[in-house]
Amino acid sequence: MPTPSTACVSTAEIQAVQLRLLAERTLISVKSSFIGLLLIGITQASSVAWEWLCGFIVLRLISMAYNHQLCRSILSQEPRTALDQGALNRLEWGLLTSGITWGVAAWMLPHVIGAELPAHALIILLIGVSGIMMNTAAITRRALHFFLWGMWSVVLGRVLWGNNDPYTHFLLAGGVSYAGLSLVHGLQLHAQSLAGITAGLENRRLLTAMTEASQREQAQGLALAQANLRLEAALARTKTLASFDELTGLMNRRAFHERLRFEIAAQRRHEEPAALLLLDLDYFKSINDRFGHQIGDAVLRSTANTLKSMLREADLLARWGGEEFLIVLPRTRIDEAGFAAERLRRALESTQIHVTADHEIAETPTPQGQSIAFSASFGVAEMHPGLTLDTVLSHADRALYAAKAGGRNRVCLGGPNLEIQDLTAATVEPDTTLFVPWA
Ligand code: GH3
Ligand code: MG
Ligand code: MG
Repeated sequence: MPTPSTACVSTAEIQAVQLRLLAERTLISVKSSFIGLLLIGITQASSVAWEWLCGFIVLRLISMAYNHQLCRSILSQEPRTALDQGALNRLEWGLLTSGITWGVAAWMLPHVIGAELPAHALIILLIGVSGIMMNTAAITRRALHFFLWGMWSVVLGRVLWGNNDPYTHFLLAGGVSYAGLSLVHGLQLHAQSLAGITAGLENRRLLTAMTEASQREQAQGLALAQANLRLEAALARTKTLASFDELTGLMNRRAFHERLRFEIAAQRRHEEPAALLLLDLDYFKSINDRFGHQIGDAVLRSTANTLKSMLREADLLARWGGEEFLIVLPRTRIDEAGFAAERLRRALESTQIHVTADHEIAETPTPQGQSIAFSASFGVAEMHPGLTLDTVLSHADRALYAAKAGGRNRVCLGGPNLEIQDLTAATVEPDTTLFVPWA
């Protein structure tokens, strides 16, 4: 008879569990069957009907051995494999032989026992054993039916054809009532077992689904966190790229404008002086032309590093264009700024880039290589709260133009009320005390 299945659990799954349970319980019941057999042997030993007793014992032993072997083989393999090989069917038929042998025990009973007490004891024993067997057989409906019908058909035959027997009525009453009770009870047991198996399988399935869902959720969470990290890194990189020049690492024009707004606001609040320096590398194109862009880039990086190393933390330094740099010195008067620019000019003038014969950059001078010296011209202008950046820039630009025109590698000061003044060309050495902030 097909086992009912629920929406989630398949019949095959239920049958696989039933097969295993049936095999386990049959193995356990073999022990109690053996004890029952022993008791029958003892109680029948004094009787004369040896052929009955021996026949029964042999039949019972064969049935027990067959069931025992079958259950061991079922439990040693995968339930689904055993099921596919028809093990459930064989086990159910094995329970039919169990039922028949226990029925035979009931049949031979009144013939061979003279005294009433052992006969009653034996019947009670039989009922006990068949109760255990019924518990075993209740796992599947067919096994239950096979066992009960195997047993009670023999008993019924004994009742119907044993009219002269003094135990007939006793057997009849006991047989009918026990048959009814065991059938009803057996079916209830079966329903309980089926519900238990189905619930167990559903729980297992739910647990697996929940575990999988939680693992998926964890994996998704992890992927999300990783994506967030990548996004944050990309955002940080984009921000950096948006604000800093990739070649020199200095602020670009955009970032410089932002920072300058704060500086101008602070300057207005505190009414402090500030200066702007515009510097342009001299004859930079010829460096590119002679040594290549890679060396030109190295000169730009070297310029940026020299400027960075000599400026204060509060000073602003930016790459303004190709080989132009812009510096803002807060809290600095124009004359101080001029001296600072002069100091930067000299530092750049004394910097050298070493290249090999193949125009590769080298740490130190190489035998066939060259050392490239370069210089910059500076235009310096004063920043006033009343002046826009463009105006101050135009003053600085004018001074820078004058520095270029004056022969390059020099510092010129410019401003609204100032004539262009060539600081480098001036013979007066700058007052070194003014360089304190850059020392
Ligand atoms: P001057 O003394 O009058 O300033 O002459 P110059 O050669 O420095 O000026 P010019 O404006 O003629 O040349 C500037 C050169 O800078 C041209 C351009 O190819 C180069 N340049 C601009 N940006 C970069 C860069 O990022 N890397 C390199 N290697 N060269 C650059
Ligand atoms: Mg230029
Ligand atoms: Mg130039």
